[in-house]
Amino acid sequence: MAHFDKILIANRGEIALRIIRGAREMGIKTVAVHSTADVDAMHVRMADESVCIGPPSSTDSYLSIPAIIAACEITGAQAVHPGYGFLSENAQFVQILEDHDITFIGPSAEHIRMMGDKITAKETAINLGIPVVPGSEGGVPDVATARQVAAEMGYPVIVKATAGGGGRGMKVAQTEADIDTAFATARTESKAAFGNDEVYIEKYLQKPRHIEVQVFGDGQGGGVHLAERDCSLQRRHQKVFEEAPGPSITPEERARIGGICANAIGEMGYRGAGTIEFLYEDGEFYFIEMNTRLQVEHPVTEAIFGVDLVREQIRVAEGLPLSFGQDDLVLNGHAIEIRINAERLPNFAPCPGKITQYHAPGGLGVRMDSALYDGYSIPPYYDSLIGKLIVHGRDRPEALARLNRALGELIVDGVETTVPLFHELLAEEDIQTGNYNIHWLERWLDENLG
Ligand code: ADP
Repeated sequence: MAHFDKILIANRGEIALRIIRGAREMGIKTVAVHSTADVDAMHVRMADESVCIGPPSSTDSYLSIPAIIAACEITGAQAVHPGYGFLSENAQFVQILEDHDITFIGPSAEHIRMMGDKITAKETAINLGIPVVPGSEGGVPDVATARQVAAEMGYPVIVKATAGGGGRGMKVAQTEADIDTAFATARTESKAAFGNDEVYIEKYLQKPRHIEVQVFGDGQGGGVHLAERDCSLQRRHQKVFEEAPGPSITPEERARIGGICANAIGEMGYRGAGTIEFLYEDGEFYFIEMNTRLQVEHPVTEAIFGVDLVREQIRVAEGLPLSFGQDDLVLNGHAIEIRINAERLPNFAPCPGKITQYHAPGGLGVRMDSALYDGYSIPPYYDSLIGKLIVHGRDRPEALARLNRALGELIVDGVETTVPLFHELLAEEDIQTGNYNIHWLERWLDENLG
């Protein structure tokens, strides 16, 4: 068992702050790393120490493994928290850290590799008794096989990248007429984005919800679940609004799917936080993938269970047991998160620039995770997420009312943001009643902003 005095955070923005906060409450010192474009960033100001690791381009800074290892050695950091994105699901990085006797705050390289390849992930899920989306057995090597598989399965189908992530390398074929193009485009996109053109085919579900189960493993065969999040409101397969618990999931369904996931995690000997993602349609769950890291939307789960997931990640990385068992996890109320991006509507074009005024909402049940401050300049090189507003209420109507109220208090001046979108969405009856699936937002955007 190792106790950490100092950890390095290989990330930036709101998630770097989130991790600094968790570590500081545990009495652990923090090291921030930053590119030259982030000298004035909040995570650099807030950490105990900071190291510049390269030029603006993330390839040469936040993704540079040698620079991050060097920063650990210079500062004496004993462990690295990767946040989400960047190196968080890079098995090679984990391996190199281990070779340098630095602990990765997350699962083993082997588990990351297993789940990073979606075909292997699906096979693993099947072996662990997790229900999956019907689809091709393994990769589909050529267009003739694609046609055959799709015809047997029945249209519509979706062609997906084995190495996929972030909604890239995914193409739908509604009928036989689309399959050649869908197959070729998915392969090309996948090659360009991931350097790997292997694809597979799944039945395309028509009106599912995206339901994901938060899990935690102690690395010793123990596993728990922390219920589900509904992340069905998506634009281009990217989440914009998340809530927990899922408005369509009954307590019985929660216990059933949660139990299956917790058992799987225990059986794998998985260590740390993970998310098992499903599509949910007509009372059935279909596994699509597992993310082996902390997710952007983790605060809604923290709100309804009153736990600190970063603290828990650090504890299990130190070799300590989880601080809760399944029976200690009692779901309380309802939480919603919205992702605020520096983007110009209606096209969602990135809108970096200087923040002339920033005021975060507050009050009961309101949490604002953001690295913004007055006078901060958002650099153009990175993700456009600038903040997450999370609200917690005794039930869903209270959470919605609180979100409406908190949004009204938020001030972000100087750049355009996606805040106006949420004002409009919250007025929609389907959002108020929780009646939406993964296609709802795209349709709404077409009708209202298109
Ligand atoms: P990524 O890793 O790129 O995020 P996922 O496999 O998690 O890819 O899928 C992202 C989103 O794409 C899902 O939340 C869902 O909206 C859509 N999707 C993926 N697979 C299917 C499917 N078989 N049927 C319908 N929609 C799907």
